[in-house]
Amino acid sequence: MREPLPLGGTIGILGGGQLGRMLALAAARLGLRTHIYCPDPASPAFDVTPHRTVAAYEDTAALAAFAATVDVVTYEFENVPAATAERLAELKPLRPGANALAVAQDRLAEKGFIGNLGIPVAPYRAIHDAADLAPALAALGTPAILKTTRLGYDGKGQRKLASLAEAERAAAELHPHPLVLEAFVPFVAEISVVLARGRNGATAAFDPAENVHRDGILFTSTVPAAVPPETAAAAQAHAASIAAALDYVGVLGVEFFVLADGSLLVNEMAPRVHNSGHWTEAVCVTDQFEQHIRAVAGWPLGDPTRLAGVVMENLVGDEIAAIPAALGPGIRPHAYGKAESRPGRKMGHINRIALKTPRN
Ligand code: AMP
Repeated sequence: MREPLPLGGTIGILGGGQLGRMLALAAARLGLRTHIYCPDPASPAFDVTPHRTVAAYEDTAALAAFAATVDVVTYEFENVPAATAERLAELKPLRPGANALAVAQDRLAEKGFIGNLGIPVAPYRAIHDAADLAPALAALGTPAILKTTRLGYDGKGQRKLASLAEAERAAAELHPHPLVLEAFVPFVAEISVVLARGRNGATAAFDPAENVHRDGILFTSTVPAAVPPETAAAAQAHAASIAAALDYVGVLGVEFFVLADGSLLVNEMAPRVHNSGHWTEAVCVTDQFEQHIRAVAGWPLGDPTRLAGVVMENLVGDEIAAIPAALGPGIRPHAYGKAESRPGRKMGHINRIALKTPRN
């Protein structure tokens, strides 16, 4: 690959959901092309990319043909199969690297990795079989949360429980094993930091967002977050430490619990652009999608400065019908172009910008 990637170069993206779509739009604005690889022919990202492959992630011939047409490969979801990532990394630069995927795909690996950096995580125990439950519950107390280590998202693959009997039932239901039992964290807020790291190790963190979940799915991200400046700075520093330890290239999302004393516990990380960073497209000099494209293309990072306060609200299922009626001053809509609306499916979002001089 030529570094930095010249104008007209092609970035391969694994995954064709809304994040891939927004990455492709950002790449186009920078004069770069995208080739999106996704098994689902109805992928929303296919609407906005000049090149596409519809094939399984295990299809080695399709992966090789895809790699031959692109300069660099990235991804929009963390569950890229390890063998797919390794195969592609042999053919073209893979950014972020396969190590970031390996850590983020497994909650136990993630907690161990982050804990080893000296960054606090919620107290937890690995649950390999039912016999591990009683001592883990005794150590962590109730309530506690039992989670799958792999393939959980949007609150799926986890159960809150208050007794050993409930824990045993939950453990029988949740797959795949092993599982992880976490102490229930009495947080006062949840925040996240979206941070970009370039090939030269430079980092640019966006302001932390304060996140509210509804039915396990992100509902709103509000910026600025109502946390002390020291807490915001610590969250950004932790995200930078994680990125440096992974020799990370691209945008990384890190979610935190904020405790009553302002201290932080990492909940989880995502090696990709993040839903809690969608506000950046409305109020930052450079948004998270452009930042990711710049990083993987070997370009200098952009300026993450925030120009206004903002609330990002996800539109889930039929809420997408709020576009276009709800539009007005200070409102930036984004519809993902998904053909079918289903309950719990993220269909779009709205950014409500806190205008300095409100106009009604
Ligand atoms: P996760 O999929 O791990 O991000 O969990 C989804 C949401 O469940 C989090 O954003 C929290 O609101 C809640 N949650 C997860 N783990 C815990 C925990 N250990 N203590 C309290 N709430 C939690």
